Amino acid sequence: MSRKETMTAAVFERKGVLTVKEIPLPKIKTPEDVLIKVKAVSICGTDVRALTDPPAFLFTEGIVVGHEFNGIVEAIGENVTNVKVGDSVVVHPNNWCGKCYFCRTGKINLCESFTHIGDKVDGAMAEYACVPEKLVYKINAEIPPYIACLTEPLACVLNPTMDVRVHPGESVVVLGAGPIGLIFMMLYKAAGAKVIMSDLSEHRRAFALKLGADLVFDPSDEGMVAKIRKETEVGANIVVDAVGLLMEQAVQLVRKGGDVILFGINEAAKVQLHQAPIVFNEINIHGKFITKGTFPSAIKIIENNIIPIEKLVTHRLPIQEIKTGLELMKSGEGCKVIIEM
Ligand SMILES: [Zn+2]
Ligand SMILES: [Zn+2]
Repeated sequence: MSRKETMTAAVFERKGVLTVKEIPLPKIKTPEDVLIKVKAVSICGTDVRALTDPPAFLFTEGIVVGHEFNGIVEAIGENVTNVKVGDSVVVHPNNWCGKCYFCRTGKINLCESFTHIGDKVDGAMAEYACVPEKLVYKINAEIPPYIACLTEPLACVLNPTMDVRVHPGESVVVLGAGPIGLIFMMLYKAAGAKVIMSDLSEHRRAFALKLGADLVFDPSDEGMVAKIRKETEVGANIVVDAVGLLMEQAVQLVRKGGDVILFGINEAAKVQLHQAPIVFNEINIHGKFITKGTFPSAIKIIENNIIPIEKLVTHRLPIQEIKTGLELMKSGEGCKVIIEM
């Protein structure tokens, strides 16, 4: 029986144009390749920002989008040893070069010539995806695909939370209650912290409370900083900016000697900051970017149901409805929107 020669895929054609169409099936090209039959792909905020008009940045024209996914191994190159046909797998989408200074000093998330899957090369919003073995991780096949595909964003948030840890009873403020902010909340809650969140959207604040945040605030309330400082007595142990332009507020909310994590990205944002309090108060500022050796921990957390990450999923749609999915995320009505193949 011969397999069909084409597949349905969501392709980034050019600025502002995404089409769902038939394209040739990907094939194993090197002995290290793994061909994956895609089961579920989660739409990332990055996808939304690249696919709206005007875009925040551009994907390579003609590529299949999608980088947060789960699927079943369909075929493997002759040198592949970590996974076998039939395994359920998740994929680290940032292919590091292995040659630059940062790769060679073990800081692969700072690679100077990444090949991002679903951005620079074909991703997974399609029936099949072909990726190098070094990026592929096995996950328990009993985890439903719409949950397993959340391994990637979880692995990203684990990069900061494994470096900046809390103890039970400590306090964390997360600015921004989108999917990434909510994953921070769930991880720090699981570690025993009291977690306070802020978001401009009333809908998102209510959703954050439902998912386990201890308190939520509206940042348009001018008294918010004072109220949170009162709530945390001397400021929070950790403040996370999951938006990308709230460093000034984060510094006002953190306690002396505390930690500020900058994780949200807004490339247009320029922050004006009073620098002296950072020195007087010995505030630690951490810029944190994507996943760094955290896939195994993310898989373990999902397999053992440590956090209720499936509650982030608000919509499950077929690939033909990807544009609806992007709109749902843009409007804030959708939290995690999953495309199921
Ligand atoms: Zn992502
Ligand atoms: Zn590199």
